[in-house]
Amino acid sequence: MTRVLVIEDEPQIVRALVINLKARKYEVDAAHDGATALQLAAARHPDVVVLDLGLPDMDGVEVIRGLRGWTRVPILVLSARHSSDEKVEALDAGADDYVTKPFGMDELLARLRAAVRRAEPVGPGEDDVTTVETDEFTVDLAAKKVNRGGKDVRLTPTEWHLLEVLVRNSGRLVSQKQLLQEVWGPSYGTETNYLRVYMAQLRRKLEADPSHPKHFITEPGMGYRFEG
Ligand code: CA
Repeated sequence: MTRVLVIEDEPQIVRALVINLKARKYEVDAAHDGATALQLAAARHPDVVVLDLGLPDMDGVEVIRGLRGWTRVPILVLSARHSSDEKVEALDAGADDYVTKPFGMDELLARLRAAVRRAEPVGPGEDDVTTVETDEFTVDLAAKKVNRGGKDVRLTPTEWHLLEVLVRNSGRLVSQKQLLQEVWGPSYGTETNYLRVYMAQLRRKLEADPSHPKHFITEPGMGYRFEG
């Protein structure tokens, strides 16, 4: 059974989450503030955390840092629509994904399932699966090759590296800062124009309609998401 820790101070949201999660056979613990949440996490070892960023006693980002001190548990953030800085900060602190309030329960549950699936240990043989297929192209992570319509697509090392980071985080938002640091290096983080340029190149090479991308999705002000 999957154990979820819900950290949220709005009673209606907690109630809706608890009812929906229990109906789907999740085990649920709820905390109304950050201090209780950190204690519960240590005591109960949840499989996934749903965290509201606006808590009465501390910033939700502090809760993420507290958790990341000792656990890799997936953290799904609930955030108000207007605060994109806050979401970026949460992702950089180690959150895995976010859902914007007001959220649809179906969307939240889908994100939750995806976060849990990504965190599951890779079984024997599964780590050999290194090919990602879309309707448009196939990425072979082991051979470092991309095939589109039966032909190899020529990518520069930087384009490849960017593609690789996004594909390895398939379905998940990767922040601009994380992409810049993984592809260009730790001293980068604000050169978002690099990302725009290289993402345009990837789309031109791999998307059927580069101006309406289906696979390399921009999350404005936040980062990018690969959808297979
Ligand atoms: Ca709140």
